[in-house]
Amino acid sequence: MPQTVRCFALCALTLAAVLFSGCTSSEETTGNKKGTEVRVEPLTEYTPKEEGAFIESLRKNQNKDSNKDLYEIYQDLTVIDIHNHDASDPGAIGKWGEYGIDRLVLFGNISEPSAQQTDKLAWQQYQQAPSSVYPSFAGFPIYEEEGVSIVKQNLEQGYLNIGEVAAASTYSQTVSRVAWKAEHPNDGNFPKIYDLAARYQVPILLHIDPPNGEPITRLEEALDQHPDTAIIFGHANAYNPPENIEPLLNKHPNLYIDFFAGFTAYNPESTNKLEDFVPLMEKYPDRFMLSTDAGFGLTTEQAAKALYETIDLLSPETALKVAYQNYEGLIERQPPTETQIQTIKTLSAKAGRFETYRLNKRMANELIFELTKLTESAP
Ligand SMILES: [Zn+2]
Repeated sequence: MPQTVRCFALCALTLAAVLFSGCTSSEETTGNKKGTEVRVEPLTEYTPKEEGAFIESLRKNQNKDSNKDLYEIYQDLTVIDIHNHDASDPGAIGKWGEYGIDRLVLFGNISEPSAQQTDKLAWQQYQQAPSSVYPSFAGFPIYEEEGVSIVKQNLEQGYLNIGEVAAASTYSQTVSRVAWKAEHPNDGNFPKIYDLAARYQVPILLHIDPPNGEPITRLEEALDQHPDTAIIFGHANAYNPPENIEPLLNKHPNLYIDFFAGFTAYNPESTNKLEDFVPLMEKYPDRFMLSTDAGFGLTTEQAAKALYETIDLLSPETALKVAYQNYEGLIERQPPTETQIQTIKTLSAKAGRFETYRLNKRMANELIFELTKLTESAP
């Protein structure tokens, strides 16, 4: 073969090889076959898996079998308790699971040094049962600069929620005395923490009492100044009628309501009934979520049953949103962090898995747990 022809043939072959490999690698989504690289692509979309018809079908069974408890009727419905203090109870998942509660946003103590220990316990429970727990944390000082770096570090690690944070407390016997209590929801480190919460797309749950006056004025200021931060008003229905909550929801699209159903249903100090809140929930179906506050002031049974009593009062679509979809959306849209991505790259390579992963922050945690076990057990 003459020199020029041979060169042409070689060049054509090379070009074809480059084109071919370029083409396959761009189409490849789950594996790069060269076996040299681990890739992580963020997945931040959320599509709820069920529609209103699902609730309707559960309710039809109720008519057939009226002796059943509501939590039995709604057994197949996913229910998230978004405010649960039982991090230090190793039996927490079983205790609440007995009443059909599927997932707990788990934390322990509030805004004091001992919370750093319970934050770790929440994480441990998460590692052991990732499909039943969303780990949350509250152990950081509100005035010292260190508080901001603790928040950032925890968010990088993989915590999916911040709270319960003492943003103001005058009347609560316990919260008013905690060491890291703020004076109001826009005090101390809060502005920087809200910025971090927005950057990581992680919701922050606040304890605010009294639920009116200066603390609420400052909450509104924070909501306006941090429009991309999802702020959850913890047990907003405690000592607070729906008429007070309505204007806040109307003005602030980034405000979410933690509805402590047991308080309204069973606390003798409640001046409202569950029914009183239903029109507000139906008007703002995307903004309400349910909690037990881990049964504060109530029995476990009362705190749990009240969730279902609330769900049963709602239209099918609103019931699904309030029971789990609103909170699940806040979780599933969180992107993986830089720390998670680096950890996955290291562990996946160590495990010999050279793949392209598409995942959100929750999935990244679960993959890290899996890869850690795999690489630790490897010889
Ligand atoms: Zn609480």
